Amino acid sequence: MIYADNAATTRLSEEALQKMLPWLTENYGNASTLYRMGREAHRAVEQAREEIAKGIGASPMEILFTSGGTESDNWALKGTMRHLARKGKKHLITSAIEHHAVLHSAHALEKEGYDITVLPVSKEGFVDPDSVKKAIRPDTALVSIMYANNETGVVQPVTEIGAVCREAGVLFHTDAVQAAGILPIDVKEQKIDLLSASAHKFHGPKGVGFLFCRRKAVPDTLLDGGGQERGHRSGTENVAGIVGMAAAFSQALSEREEKTERLSALRDRVQEGLLKIPGTHLNGDASRRLPGTLNVSFEDLDGQSLLMELDLRGIQASVGSACNSGSMTPSHVLLEMGVPYKTAHGSLRLSFGRYNRPEEAETLVREAESAVRLLRDRR
Ligand code: PLP
Repeated sequence: MIYADNAATTRLSEEALQKMLPWLTENYGNASTLYRMGREAHRAVEQAREEIAKGIGASPMEILFTSGGTESDNWALKGTMRHLARKGKKHLITSAIEHHAVLHSAHALEKEGYDITVLPVSKEGFVDPDSVKKAIRPDTALVSIMYANNETGVVQPVTEIGAVCREAGVLFHTDAVQAAGILPIDVKEQKIDLLSASAHKFHGPKGVGFLFCRRKAVPDTLLDGGGQERGHRSGTENVAGIVGMAAAFSQALSEREEKTERLSALRDRVQEGLLKIPGTHLNGDASRRLPGTLNVSFEDLDGQSLLMELDLRGIQASVGSACNSGSMTPSHVLLEMGVPYKTAHGSLRLSFGRYNRPEEAETLVREAESAVRLLRDRR
């Protein structure tokens, strides 16, 4: 079996699992209680907060734990917009290639009466920082542009966008779900005010993530209740999840450079092989991209059929096209980049992670080539 869908989720690292186990077994205390078991759980949560903060150049109190990327994105957008609406700022800027956690949050806000500007991208998949600058108005509250795209891996000019926003006095949120643990992040240097991340994308557990909020940028709460997370996000702390996330994040950062080299070498070999198949196109910029992500389109092919054919051959990948609801609409990301509808339909995303091995490149190319030939012959 070759698992080439690390952009969807990753295997939990053994180190993270070992760190989590005591908090799922003998020490099951509620981190908000005052007796010994609770105090120990509380300490573990705070230690994890420190570890994560250090990894992105933040201070611990700027890290708030959530249930993952979707919650962090919803909170950043809805919480910030509702907060700043009270100061008369009701305009949000985002881009057309965001994950649906951002785009659907933006559209939900639009229904509540907020004003949304959705910026287009270039054919390579970039948001132009100049277009952000031009879109900012006196009533703009927030700009939300992702760090790296989940379908193409294209890395956005977040540092430049951060500078534009800071100069204009507008808050900047970045969805770093695909970038965290893979690309360097320094929230101070990059002038990021809010940042979303999710543990299961960097070999941590599912259902846990964090939102970095600069002190002046804490959004209104979405979850009211027992007042955990200093009153910002209620709900009993997911101690094992939080501990596992911090362990996985530190591990990802410590092996970042080695992994970047290894994964981009694997990715480039696969890319080279796939592009030799007639009628194959690379989607997204080739250089400013996540090291382990590759998105190609095959002409005269249906991505779903290719996916199923690859699955029969033991290869787990993703179509850059169909969305989670099972609809057959091609990817909004590829369409926004100007990829023709038919070509977008035949897209394939391969994404590599810690557990992929170099020798998988040859098998992947061989099987993809044979699957494409078979499916085209059947047409
Ligand atoms: N944002 C991006 C860019 C993603 O790739 C994903 C997951 O695919 C999410 C947000 C949602 O994260 P989660 O699965 O943790 O809710």
